[in-house]
Amino acid sequence: MTECASGRQHMVESGKKGKVYLIGAGPGDAGLLTLRGAEALSTADVVVFDYLSNQELLKHCPAGCERIYVGKKAGAHSMPQDDINRLLVEKAQGTRTVARLKGGDPFVFGRGGEEAQALAKNGIEFEIGPGITAATAVAAYAGIPLTHRGVSSSVALITGHAAAGKHDGSLDWRNASAGSDTLVFYMGVTNLASIVEALRRSGRPSTTPVALIRWGTLSFQKTVTGTLDTIVSLAREHEVKPPAIIVVGEVVALREEIRWFEKKPLHGRRIIVTRSRTQASALAGKLSSLGAEVVEFPTIDIAPLADLGDLDRALNEMQAFSWVVFASAHGARIFLERLFGTGRDSRALFGVKIAAIGSETGAVLRNAGLVPDLVPGAYASEALIDAFKALKKDYTGERVLLPCSEIARKHIPDELSKMGADVLLTPVYKNTCPAYSDADLDEVFRKKHDLATFTSSSTVSNLADILKRHDRSHYLGTMRGAAIGPTTAATMAETGIPVSVEAQEHTIAGLVQSILLFLERKT
Ligand code: SAH
Repeated sequence: MTECASGRQHMVESGKKGKVYLIGAGPGDAGLLTLRGAEALSTADVVVFDYLSNQELLKHCPAGCERIYVGKKAGAHSMPQDDINRLLVEKAQGTRTVARLKGGDPFVFGRGGEEAQALAKNGIEFEIGPGITAATAVAAYAGIPLTHRGVSSSVALITGHAAAGKHDGSLDWRNASAGSDTLVFYMGVTNLASIVEALRRSGRPSTTPVALIRWGTLSFQKTVTGTLDTIVSLAREHEVKPPAIIVVGEVVALREEIRWFEKKPLHGRRIIVTRSRTQASALAGKLSSLGAEVVEFPTIDIAPLADLGDLDRALNEMQAFSWVVFASAHGARIFLERLFGTGRDSRALFGVKIAAIGSETGAVLRNAGLVPDLVPGAYASEALIDAFKALKKDYTGERVLLPCSEIARKHIPDELSKMGADVLLTPVYKNTCPAYSDADLDEVFRKKHDLATFTSSSTVSNLADILKRHDRSHYLGTMRGAAIGPTTAATMAETGIPVSVEAQEHTIAGLVQSILLFLERKT
């Protein structure tokens, strides 16, 4: 980071004095924030952010951090620059740490310089955290190297904003055009025609390749390529709007060979993930690494029960049980937390057999050094019962502990009891519905999606409850559901959610595989 205005050594932990971090958020992809930027966000009392900075980045801020949106969508500035400057000065009074998150790099067409001047003028301590600017990041995600040996040895970053209103922009463009092999225009889309005209007049051949890249680095990135001759009509045809950059030069042709991002199998697909907050990330991560735009819409919050007395009593006499059955990863996680949290370790389970449904449940156990004895082939309680039956017919006299949710299905205990087992169903967590506003729901469900994933019957029934409460049950019939297995699919069908995909293998990996097959077939 650069030295702060006062020339004093920088201090990451702000301590006594107010301080502002001007941080580049990168161009869109939340993974393109710098480590320094994330560190500064994590110390912020206040975060002031723009339209172009990915709001997912706010997850780096502490829970109680004040969040202030100052807009800056092209043509719809929600706060004038002077007011933003004043806001930063005001918020950094006292002892507060302010993170000013700006799209791309704060000092590249970001007016970060003006904000820094205002801070300097008012004696506010600040640091600058550079970010990855749109030109380099967006071009890279479009498969366009801005310089390339033998093709381009220089690049200019130009604002296309100024072109409008000038009766003749040719002087500006002649200099820019003559001076650099590759030209990158920011904020130029609405002035595309006059930019192209000026470039042609300044001598660039009409066959010069041009790329327009909109919402670069995000899963809905769109690239349109043409030449100086064709790009204006192509932009109109494809309705290219801001935010987009314009890349002009022979390097654009290299994209044919090295485009990569838009080739991801789920690129351009919008997938709603309805799991619980704690579980969503594994599925969401897999889908977005395959190129999908993932909209996380948790329908379940999982919380351990306040009173775990039943579990404690069972742990006290663990050796009396022959089996402990984990029907979900949550059950396993909370059981283990309690086991270790009460000073015990895995020896408490000595001689006790373990059954686990689902690979994720198995993974939770393995991470704690426990290998399940019985794992059914499918993610369903029916398969677990079959696996028990395959082992032996009679469980008379065997005690089975089943840590579960408050609303667990009775299928497993009923069937095990029929085989003679003495089953202790021990609720350890509860499922609650997260709260949403009408606007939240419309934002997620009004826009077209390719699939919505459901990984348990409760994700389905909770969604139905949430929509009903907001008078929006009509969204159910418009959905395209992807179910992890037959039980979930059946609940979806009962609830009125069309089942487009039912996973062949009833695991997260299996669900992702079936989604891939389904969506690839559709193109
Ligand atoms: N400080 C920013 C630029 C802000 S000016 C940076 O360093 O990137 C806003 C312009 O940046 C937009 O009009 C557009 O031309 C460009 N831009 C920013 N993010 C973009 C993205 N994800 N895709 C395409 N262009 C983008």
